[in-house]
Amino acid sequence: MSTSREGWEVVIGLEVHAQLSTRAKIFSGASTAFGAAPNTQACAVDIALPGVLPVLNRGAVERAIKFGLAVNGRINRRSVFARKNYFYPDLPKGYQISQYELPIIVGGVVPIQVEGGEKWVRLTRAHLEEDAGKSLHEDFHGMTGIDLNRAGTPLLEIVSEPDMGSTAEAVAYAKALHALVRWIGICDGNMQEGSFRCDANVSVRRAGERRLGTRCEIKNLNSFRFLERAIDYEVQRQIEILEDGGRVVQETRLFDPERGETRSMRTKEEAHDYRYFPDPDLLPLEVSEEWIEEVRATLPELPQEKRSRYQRQYGLSAYDAGVLTSSKEMADYFEALVARLPGEPKLCANWVMGELSGWLNRQGLEIDASPISPVQLAGLLGRVVDGTISGKIAKEVFDALARGEAQGEDAADRIIEARGLKQISDAAALEAIVDRILAANAQQVAYYRAGKEKLFAYFVGQAMRATQGKANPTQLNEILKRKLAGP
Ligand code: ADP
Ligand code: MG
Repeated sequence: MSTSREGWEVVIGLEVHAQLSTRAKIFSGASTAFGAAPNTQACAVDIALPGVLPVLNRGAVERAIKFGLAVNGRINRRSVFARKNYFYPDLPKGYQISQYELPIIVGGVVPIQVEGGEKWVRLTRAHLEEDAGKSLHEDFHGMTGIDLNRAGTPLLEIVSEPDMGSTAEAVAYAKALHALVRWIGICDGNMQEGSFRCDANVSVRRAGERRLGTRCEIKNLNSFRFLERAIDYEVQRQIEILEDGGRVVQETRLFDPERGETRSMRTKEEAHDYRYFPDPDLLPLEVSEEWIEEVRATLPELPQEKRSRYQRQYGLSAYDAGVLTSSKEMADYFEALVARLPGEPKLCANWVMGELSGWLNRQGLEIDASPISPVQLAGLLGRVVDGTISGKIAKEVFDALARGEAQGEDAADRIIEARGLKQISDAAALEAIVDRILAANAQQVAYYRAGKEKLFAYFVGQAMRATQGKANPTQLNEILKRKLAGP
């Protein structure tokens, strides 16, 4: 979907809250597990009893460092926790511990795939903070329930520069970031459970205008689809206001998925409204060079590194390499496959991106839940490579594999055997079939020889029909060409 409206430019910056996958909370030992009965995972620190003190979770800091390294940002040797003061029932302290003036990560870039190539979205910063509890508006007639299980869950808030110029770019960025945090193992990325939430800042301006327009911030978009719909709606809304001679009011808005529109929630608060100040209960966070190097040693090969390696090592196109590295699971699958078929990276790429992904999509399955293992797919593709079956028959075998018609490493061979799908590569047998077809189609043969070369496909079709698609296509072509050329 495109949001570029005639004469207007769209500007988008995203703030993403990624819950860090630590077992305990950022300032207490309570569990971060999702889905427990309300208020069973909120300890004295999380519910802000008097006299308690926060203790920083080392694992949360490590994950932030990991992220900083993965995006090539600067890791501040010294960062400071600050109190962000506001009142809300799900915030028992009356303030959220966050980082303000000195965040742990500054800068960095996230490469995204856009129309016409790659684009780098710059990051402003990424800082550590605690999540709030949850207000439960359903289930309680005329009342609001408060569940503090989520209070104190570690968050990394990742703030981008306003570098996205369309809805598609914003979604591509959100997806790339989502893949990255899962890839490096710092966040489970479960959007339904709120582990990865986006706030979209959207503004528009007349094409050619240098100054940024007034922005609105749409809060808490917890699916890529909602992100897309919310931005599209918001862009349209702002353009209509401006075209009618009005002004966009800077404010915080909510997306209503049922009505597909954004609604004003509150006018934009300013930083000074929060009365930020350094938290006197927490020491400044010092990160040593050695610690950073220790964390660096745990980083896996990153998506962009894999992407260039696939192009270099396997000769794949930038597009193929991009798709295959869109998730770690996809890349792992591809690498396991190609390890068994070292000479055939392009064939492997085509099958993973085509037949396999298509089938998994239709089933609503992720690739790590694929019923066809890389070993089994390699078994199938190996039979295409060695000429046992044609590419077309391979699709039939693939469907049978997907349905679980045979098990084990040699499942493809069993299916080929049981269904009698072996390609006919016996030259004498193929010649006999061709002879029969040419004899039965004397008229067409005459036309062909008189110059109607398009009829070649007709003869191929006849031969394939006679062999239920099992004729070796290369051999068949060669024999047909030879025999049609004349006696
Ligand atoms: P705040 O802390 O009040 O939310 P920031 O200045 O930190 O404000 O910006 C938050 C986000 O808004 C960033 O991702 C930034 O890129 C984006 N942003 C800032 N100005 C604009 C604008 N005019 N249009 C779109 N996005 C913007
Ligand atoms: Mg904000």
